[in-house]
Amino acid sequence: MKNFDVTVVGGGTGGCAVAYTAAKLGLKVLVLEKGIHLGGAMTSGLVVPVMKPSDNAINDEFFNVLVTELETLGGQITYQGNRGWFNPELTKIALDNLLASVGVKVIFASEVKDVILDGKRICGVKTEEGEYFSKVVVDASGDGIAAKLSGCEFLDKKDEVQPNSLRFILSGVDAKAFGDWVLELDKDRNVTTVEEVGGKTYFSTSYTWDGGDKQALAPLFKDAVECGILTKEDTNYFQIFSVAGAESSVAFNCPRMLDCNGEASAEELSGSIMNARQSIFRLTNFCKKYFKGFENAYISNIADVVGVRVSYRVKGKYIYTMEDIISGKKFENPVAVSNYPIDVHSREKNKSTLKKVQDYEVPLESLISADIENLYVVGRCVSADFMAQGAIRVQATCMAMGEGLARYLFQVLR
Ligand SMILES: Cc1cc2nc3c(=O)[nH]c(=O)nc-3n(C[C@H](O)[C@H](O)[C@H](O)COP(=O)(O)OP(=O)(O)OC[C@H]3O[C@@H](n4cnc5c(N)ncnc54)[C@H](O)[C@@H]3O)c2cc1C
Repeated sequence: MKNFDVTVVGGGTGGCAVAYTAAKLGLKVLVLEKGIHLGGAMTSGLVVPVMKPSDNAINDEFFNVLVTELETLGGQITYQGNRGWFNPELTKIALDNLLASVGVKVIFASEVKDVILDGKRICGVKTEEGEYFSKVVVDASGDGIAAKLSGCEFLDKKDEVQPNSLRFILSGVDAKAFGDWVLELDKDRNVTTVEEVGGKTYFSTSYTWDGGDKQALAPLFKDAVECGILTKEDTNYFQIFSVAGAESSVAFNCPRMLDCNGEASAEELSGSIMNARQSIFRLTNFCKKYFKGFENAYISNIADVVGVRVSYRVKGKYIYTMEDIISGKKFENPVAVSNYPIDVHSREKNKSTLKKVQDYEVPLESLISADIENLYVVGRCVSADFMAQGAIRVQATCMAMGEGLARYLFQVLR
């Protein structure tokens, strides 16, 4: 039987939230995922932690059940008041459990390659194995794949890009030794936090964008470049976080892939990916030599997808803007409330934007395709201008969008 109420293209961050919520409300839901696990950027991309949701967040039931499921599996901690510190491998299992618990049909290894249209309506999608029909389709592919296949309009790109990153994890780290050492080094706690959780040491630190010398790790990077251990490009961006449920593992939010962006072709990406893996190898040797506690560290994971911050943005019934964020504009049908900053990475060191803001609302209309009546979009490719996308692309917001959309679809379809 290949008829569903809702087909979700992509079982990633936003897609899982739509699917879980819609099925829990009683809709018949299909997820087609091209990979072999759920979670998208959270799992394949090794993107941890979830940035802390606003205290006034709405549509956060999915986030909360995921926290609880991961806690049960031993893959979640609350760090510095943020419950979104997840273990990427256990997140795969937690999402399997959650979607199965509400009866979502998940089909892995299923890349959506075509759509079935009837004028301005989408009737279904096609993979190599067949056709799947549904009342509505939700494009949760991150890249607007279903929208592209449906001939939808995309928002103007101008010259706006954020660099991709290839994330990785080092294991075998003595977190306590590193924590004690780095706190001593970063005496003013400018960019470092360390916290004991359940008798284990977790930490976060960086050497990154706001001016080299304020960063306690800066002299080490400088020395490593002079000694040829790192290249100057390796020092463009550096940020590390402990991994929940794996206290000897550390997730790296780097290296940035400065030579390509989210819209690069496979051919353009390939050289860049190989360069990034070389950078990962150099960064590993750097950490082992310069960081106390990293002496026995080894590469345990390299992401199996490129970390894309922004690629295509689908034109929706409403184009959400940076001005909407800054003014805290109110909407009739908000799907998410967040206060995550406008966070736009630049290719150039010290040129990124991190603009703090008050709570803002993301409107439902930015998730509704302008061109195809029953096509919806969630996640990082929704209808928002480039700067606004820099704020709403984070995981908790993508999940809230998914949950909010599912609640709306239930009203429409029941
Ligand atoms: C380097 C980097 C660091 C980040 N750091 C943070 C952070 O610290 N905290 C935070 O909260 N956010 C962070 N983000 C942002 C956040 O992780 C992402 O923007 C968000 O997870 C995107 O969710 P999504 O649902 O749009 O896409 P994804 O989670 O990427 O899901 C898309 C899914 O669609 C599938 N798919 C794609 N095409 C098809 C197809 N044709 N058919 C079937 N399936 C398909 C993919 O396999 C994938 O599973 C970061 C992002 C990057 C790139």
